[in-house]
Amino acid sequence: MSDCIFCRIAAGEIPSATIYEDENFRVILDLGPATKGHALILPKAHYADLTEIPEDLAAKAMVVAKKVVTFMKDALPCDGYNIVQNNGESAGQTVFHFHMHLIPRYKGDHAGVTWKPGKLTDEARDEILEKAKGLMQ
Ligand code: 5GP
Ligand code: ZN
Repeated sequence: MSDCIFCRIAAGEIPSATIYEDENFRVILDLGPATKGHALILPKAHYADLTEIPEDLAAKAMVVAKKVVTFMKDALPCDGYNIVQNNGESAGQTVFHFHMHLIPRYKGDHAGVTWKPGKLTDEARDEILEKAKGLMQ
């Protein structure tokens, strides 16, 4: 996908602040970081989102995440971290090449990786449990 910015960054065609690279992934610093050290895991092959990426590569992405957050905790050092992975416009995805955000957290940083809790209704619970029985078990 020559018009995909993350394909071009992952391939090294566009320079990036790369903190880790292997045969399948490049991990870069986000240009608009939520906190100091905010990084993105980019697969070198193009997949729009989590539903498209093959299972084995999705599993490998989590292994890379574990490596990078271990570095963040030890070296930055951060106090905690969020792993965020947006899929679809409604979920805040702006670059349609699968990526995982690794966001180091520091006590009192106010980075705001959060949501307002609602309430699980009986109706929603029953509907979803019924659908999951048919499709996921
Ligand atoms: P999304 O909203 O799709 O989950 O995340 C896209 C992220 O990519 C944003 O956090 C944005 O700051 C980052 N980003 C967009 N373009 C570039 C770029 O050219 N280089 C880097 N390093 N980050 C980018
Ligand atoms: Zn791409």
